[in-house]
Amino acid sequence: MIRTSRISIWLLLCFFGNICFGAEPNASEFRPEAYLKRSLGADFCLVDWNTVQGYYTHLAEQCSTVELQRVGETTEGRDFLISIISSPENLKNIEAIQAASRTIADPRGKSEEELQRAVEDGKVVLFITPSMHSTEVAATEMGMELAWLLATSEEAPWSTMRDEAIVILLPSLNPDGVDHVAQWYEKNLEKPYESSSLPELYQKYTGHDNNRDFFALTQVEAQLLSKLMYQQWYPQIMWDVHQQGQNGDRFFVPPYRDPLNENIDPLIVAGINAIGSRAVMDMTTEDCTGIVTGVSYDNWWNGGNRSVPARQNIIGILTEAASANFASPIYLEQRELSDPLGRKEYRSSNQFIAPWKGGWWRQADIIRYELAFAKSLFGTISREPKLWLKNKMTAARKASAIDEDSKRQAWLITVDNEDIGAVVRLVNLLQQLGIEVHESRSEIKADERTYSRGTLVVSCRQPQSNLVNDLFELKEFPDGETAYDVSGWSLAALFGLRVVEVVGELKGEIKLLDSKQLPKAFSNSERADTRSFRDTRQWISFNRKLARAEAYQTSVSEQSAEEQQVKLNEEMTKSLPRVGVYAPWSASMDEGWLRWTLEYLEMPYRRVRNSTVKAGNLKEEFDVILIPDVSPTSVEHGRREGSVQGNLTGGLDVTGALAIEEFVKDGGKLIVMESACPWVIDLLRIPLVDVTAERENRDFSCSGSVVRGVVQDHQTTDGLPDTIAFMFAHSKAWRAATSKEREARMDIECDVEALLSYAPRRVLLSGTMNRPEVIEGQIAWAKVKQGKGCIHLFGFRPYYRGWTHASFHLLMRSILFD
Ligand SMILES: [Zn+2]
Repeated sequence: MIRTSRISIWLLLCFFGNICFGAEPNASEFRPEAYLKRSLGADFCLVDWNTVQGYYTHLAEQCSTVELQRVGETTEGRDFLISIISSPENLKNIEAIQAASRTIADPRGKSEEELQRAVEDGKVVLFITPSMHSTEVAATEMGMELAWLLATSEEAPWSTMRDEAIVILLPSLNPDGVDHVAQWYEKNLEKPYESSSLPELYQKYTGHDNNRDFFALTQVEAQLLSKLMYQQWYPQIMWDVHQQGQNGDRFFVPPYRDPLNENIDPLIVAGINAIGSRAVMDMTTEDCTGIVTGVSYDNWWNGGNRSVPARQNIIGILTEAASANFASPIYLEQRELSDPLGRKEYRSSNQFIAPWKGGWWRQADIIRYELAFAKSLFGTISREPKLWLKNKMTAARKASAIDEDSKRQAWLITVDNEDIGAVVRLVNLLQQLGIEVHESRSEIKADERTYSRGTLVVSCRQPQSNLVNDLFELKEFPDGETAYDVSGWSLAALFGLRVVEVVGELKGEIKLLDSKQLPKAFSNSERADTRSFRDTRQWISFNRKLARAEAYQTSVSEQSAEEQQVKLNEEMTKSLPRVGVYAPWSASMDEGWLRWTLEYLEMPYRRVRNSTVKAGNLKEEFDVILIPDVSPTSVEHGRREGSVQGNLTGGLDVTGALAIEEFVKDGGKLIVMESACPWVIDLLRIPLVDVTAERENRDFSCSGSVVRGVVQDHQTTDGLPDTIAFMFAHSKAWRAATSKEREARMDIECDVEALLSYAPRRVLLSGTMNRPEVIEGQIAWAKVKQGKGCIHLFGFRPYYRGWTHASFHLLMRSILFD
């Protein structure tokens, strides 16, 4: 890869400028280039959110084909916008089009005439979501050009698309990140570390994992998009625009690779494949080489922006363009390119029909490819608009019907569940996903069992049943396949809830639950008052009480100790621990998820940087320090000198490591997650061995599955259920070191207590794991006493992607309980 000088790049730009389209549409004064006063996707230039918002506002003011709506506020308070683009007639008719879309999405109870009319009157609704991953920069400017073409061009497919469809184009799915990346890149331009990665997450809590949040809906952006899609617009197709690494194919389009999740209707899969295959042909006509299909991205995992809609009978399209270095171009020799099919030789295949030959690759190229894809997609939609409406309706009808071939009738959430906080959260998110939840108004009978009045019923007689099944069932991953992301995610298990699958007929009276309010049977006040801490809401109220006690103690400091004592009940004499969360400069997603979980449970914390730790005497400032899932190298050495600004380089080094050791000896509590554990085990010479890293277990692997842990007797775990489900994703499992190992490693004789072990049998609940016996019976969560303090080692992440509600309890206990 070679860099070029600025001058030669500008010459190249002048030479190849405007190569995207031969036709020159009207209204060139509204074109993004006129607004930006530079060429589109120009080298070394990125737009910030103000500019993006300004452009879309300007376009909407000028064009009767564009309506800009502010639909909410982002995590950091920016405007969350949608640009609605269609013919003026369609825009006048939005309500009727939304109603037709809704009928198509949910045909239950409608006559054949009504259904036919919905297809006749309906328009295809297409959602486009650029730059959710803010470092995948090109789609932000691509979206601006696409909006202009669609709004103004009199040529097909832009003009026909306006007539046949309504496009909901989000200027960005992550406006906060647009600013963070633009500001960071501008600051580093022309420095040796111009393409250095950001020191903070581009979405405050999730970073890249924002594309793992579309069923758990922890973040505002995912919530807003779900509301638009499942409660307002009911789209038939959505296109999620991404970028990938630099050295492989130039552009990925579906078909996705195997395995295929059977909770996606075949018609939806066929639609995804048809759109992708047509795009390969159209883009090849437009001289886009290096397009690949059927690699990397599987059609199995759930949680992503394109995968949740697919289970809602929406065609979810993902495209991935090769990246440059933000807006800095790169040069790749052909020998530097890697084969996207994983073969030794970089060459053509039926999935990779015209390999790219290497050369310069820049933001403008990515935009050209993405616009070529958009043109193909719009052509495919507008040539046969009714086909997409009819296919969605057919899939929705099929999903709503129960017949002999159906796997099940419903899922029940029983009233004996003790974690009411988890039930509320699950019901709330199901409703946000457009899934109907019923409450039973009488005792109900199913599969020769009886359930109390108030039981929640999630019926499979709804168009969303594929998503319902995918969220509730335990997954069996097909043999011989590899997962792109996680292979199992079963939310009911991860939320720690008793959920019953109903196979036979369900008898009883049920009524739609139309609010977030659970039936009375769930609000057992006696249970809520116990100190068993099985209800996540109890942690929130406990933390609030402690926070108030602290505030109270401060405000009444003038009063005598007796007066204070009278007013503070026993619980409130304890104050909130001073919690620190170690935050490396590598923008750790796990640190973000940890922060999100602490805030969700209302546990105050401070972020702790390397310099704070290295200053020593940590016990003066903190009672508890949490180290998230960060690699030992990252903890110890941080970012390399010269790779980023000087004040962001380095890790804890020896000084910080010794300060951590001193903190524990002084009585501090250190809580360590997954991949940071080896660093602490080594530092504090703890006699534990990670069995997943042992030579004879090299073939053990698990990219992300739901496993079962058995709770061990201990005062910290007192009151927990006997078993808990959580996510195992490249996690750890320990055994006690043998005396020989202890001697060789000079481990310290210390008290190691297992609080949670992997189940000795049937450890795997959902997903896949190669050789589960390696971890069976081994330690998952250990408590180690050293000096006056203690260490909690979690071999897994108890707040994984915010999905694992049941193991939130473990995190809170490790922080608050002795
Ligand atoms: Zn991406």
